[in-house]
Amino acid sequence: MTDAPAAPIHWVVRMNYRNRAGSWLAAFVVLAVHFSEHAYGLWFWLFMGLQFLVYPHVVFWRARHAKDPLAAEIQNLLFDNFCFGVWAAVLGFPLWITYTLFICGCINMVAFSAFKGVLQALGAFLAGVLLVFAVVGWHFTLDTSLLVSALSMASLSGYLILFAFDAHRRTVALSETRSKLRQSEAGLQRQIQAIQSLQAQLTEQANRDPLTGLYNRRYLHDSMQREFDRCAREGAPLSLLLIDLDHFKLVNDHHGHSVGDEVLRQVSAILEQETRSSDICCRYGGEEFLLVLPGVDVQAAQERAEHCCNQIAAHPWLVNGQAFAVTLSVGVACTADTRLTPAELIDRADQALFRAKAEGRNRVCLSGPTTLA
Ligand code: GH3
Ligand code: MG
Ligand code: MG
Repeated sequence: MTDAPAAPIHWVVRMNYRNRAGSWLAAFVVLAVHFSEHAYGLWFWLFMGLQFLVYPHVVFWRARHAKDPLAAEIQNLLFDNFCFGVWAAVLGFPLWITYTLFICGCINMVAFSAFKGVLQALGAFLAGVLLVFAVVGWHFTLDTSLLVSALSMASLSGYLILFAFDAHRRTVALSETRSKLRQSEAGLQRQIQAIQSLQAQLTEQANRDPLTGLYNRRYLHDSMQREFDRCAREGAPLSLLLIDLDHFKLVNDHHGHSVGDEVLRQVSAILEQETRSSDICCRYGGEEFLLVLPGVDVQAAQERAEHCCNQIAAHPWLVNGQAFAVTLSVGVACTADTRLTPAELIDRADQALFRAKAEGRNRVCLSGPTTLA
């Protein structure tokens, strides 16, 4: 059985461990020189060893195994400041040592708690000082030797450089992450645009008849009620032309299905030329077409239907150099007095078309007057 992989160490805990272990070692050296110059006793050396050499590893272990490592690390930083206060007071506030300890602790707190960190650092430091005052009273030994002062400066400088280096590294990492994010955002935008244009293409394809490119019945169903409602609101007429090719079966029978397809395509192109942007021109069935003409009254609709018939009849229909005729029958229905649904108006147009067929084809027939539902 293999052990579960260890949880990753929080980056703050890792970074502080490295900084604390290094800088407290430097502080140990400074204090060791100071102690030796002032002949401090064994206990001082022992406590200093524990504090500056062992303590950084203990608090790292605590933060690493804490439930909330970041919160534990901030507690560690506060406790660092408390210990600094104790040491400063115990040693009689040697200026360079006190300043170095306090400012390093203060910078650490500001890095995580912003300006509030200054007050927190000061509070913890003073708590340490007060504890010493309460237990052993106070004394002041402000001076340090030239060597200790120089070592304090060197360790403070080293710590500040280390701190600035971390800040630089994080800034670079942040800007790299931002630029990667911007790149993936741009990629995502491009994908969204491609999907949207694909969606638009699909919707267009779903609404179109593949053979003729005209709108199909699905589109007619969606849009016709809308046009009916609009014309009813505006009190405008609406006309339908239901168009059927005459004896189209014979075209297929005599010239083949592919010629029949080509005829349907060309008829569609001519009908589309005859429609305005407000009209809806759709392939209604095999060789049947429906033109919805919003705002067009019955006379205008009849003229449009006759014009379509003439255009189709006048078109040069040829197969292998041999001419053949293509004609239309058209049933026209228009809204007028009676209230009808779109389906009922189509029925009226169908009845008119039936009459056109019955009366000999190649003609336009009108249905009786009707009104929008
Ligand atoms: P009518 O004048 O009474 O309308 O006679 P018609 O022959 O046009 O009518 P009918 O309903 O008898 O025949 C319609 C023909 O249209 C039969 C069918 O094969 C043909 N058709 C329907 N859709 C297509 C198509 O997409 N392509 C081709 N080539 N023919 C089609
Ligand atoms: Mg038909
Ligand atoms: Mg027909």
